[in-house]
Amino acid sequence: MAGIYIHIPYCKKLCSYCDFYHIISDNDHSLFLDALKKEIEIRQDYLNRETVSTIYFGGGTPSVLSIKEIEFILDILRKNFIIESENEITIEVNPDDIRDNYFRELKNLGINRISLGVQSWRDEDLRFLNRRHTSEQSADALASAFAAGFENVSIDLIYGIPGMTTEHLASNLIRTFSYDIKHLSAYHLTIEPDTVFGKMKQKNRLNETDEEESVAEFNLLIEKTEEAGFVHYEISNFSKPGYISLHNTNYWRQVSYLGLGPSAHSFNGYSRQWNVRNLKKYANSLKGNKTFFEKEELDLKTKFNEYILTSLRTMWGIDLQYVEKAFEKEGYDYVINLAGKFINYGLMEQKENALTLTNQGKMISDNIISEFIMPVQKD
Ligand code: SF4
Repeated sequence: MAGIYIHIPYCKKLCSYCDFYHIISDNDHSLFLDALKKEIEIRQDYLNRETVSTIYFGGGTPSVLSIKEIEFILDILRKNFIIESENEITIEVNPDDIRDNYFRELKNLGINRISLGVQSWRDEDLRFLNRRHTSEQSADALASAFAAGFENVSIDLIYGIPGMTTEHLASNLIRTFSYDIKHLSAYHLTIEPDTVFGKMKQKNRLNETDEEESVAEFNLLIEKTEEAGFVHYEISNFSKPGYISLHNTNYWRQVSYLGLGPSAHSFNGYSRQWNVRNLKKYANSLKGNKTFFEKEELDLKTKFNEYILTSLRTMWGIDLQYVEKAFEKEGYDYVINLAGKFINYGLMEQKENALTLTNQGKMISDNIISEFIMPVQKD
C-alpha cells in the first residue's frame, strides 16, 4: 500500500520559524495546478500501479485552495492511480481559512482526516510565531470540523517557544484534551538558519528555551498525553488507540510514496527524489518537458541509515529480524553492539526482536540515532 503527498506551496503570511517551501499566495493558483496535473499524469507509474492507501495534502497551506481546486486535484489522482476505497485522506488546515461549509464540502470530497494547525492556545505565542490566526479561531475551526462530522481530527502544537513555561504548556494540553481529538502532533520549536527566527538568532536577538526547560516540557508532554489516553507512537506524535497517522507511519516504515508539487520528496524503495524547491522552475520545467527533480539511488548503507533514522523514532523501534534480513550479519552485529551500550545506560530497551528508546532515551533521540549512522562515502 503506497501513499501520495501533495505539496501546496501557498501561504498567506510568513511564520517566523518556517522552513517549508512556500510562497505568499495570490488567488490565482493556475500555474501550480496546471503543472501539478502534468506531474500526476507523467508519474502515474512511479508507484508501480500499487494501490494507494493514503493521500496527504500538506504545505504550505492546503486550505488556501478552494473546494473546486481540491476536487480538481483529487479527480486527477483518481483517474491516474488505483486508490483504495478504505483510504485515509488528510488535509492540513489553518484555523482562519474556515469559511461557510468548508469542512462539509471537504467531507463530501472524501477527505476523512483533518490536521489543524493550532500551534498554541495562547495568543501571545501565536503573535510571537507570527501565525495569522487566534486561539478563538482555532476553537471555532474545531467546532466546525466536528459539526461537519469529522471524527479523525488531529491538532498540531509547538512547545519550547521562548517565554513558554511548563505551566503554559500544561494549560495548552488541558485545553487540547478538552476536545475529542484523536491525534496530536507536538513539535519542539527548532530554529533553522534561513528563517526569521534564524536571522534573529544570528543577531543575538532571540532568547531560545534552555535545555532544562525543554526537557521539562517534553516530560510533561509524555506524562499528560499518557494520562489523556494517547499512545506515544513517534517522538512527536501521539494518538488515541486506532488513530495513528497511516500516511506518516508509512514514511517511517519504508513504504513507497510519491510526492507531488514543488519541493516534494518521493521514495520507491530503491531511490529517493525531490522536486525543485521553486514554483516557477517547477512549472516551467514541466511545461518544457525538462527535469524538475534531483534523484539519489540508495546504496545499502544509506538504506540502513534511513531505516535507523526513522524506525528508532517510533514505538515499533528497530526490528532485528528485518535488520538481519535486509542488512545481513554485518548490519545486525553493528546494531546489537551499539544497542548494548544504550541498554546499559537505560536509554534503550529490547523486547523480543524490537529495540526501542526508553522515555529517557527519547529526550536525546537525535544523539543516539547519530551514533548508529554509518559513514557513507559519496562520489
Ligand atoms: S503556514 Fe505553515 S508553511 Fe506557511 S509560513 Fe506558516 S509554518 Fe510555513
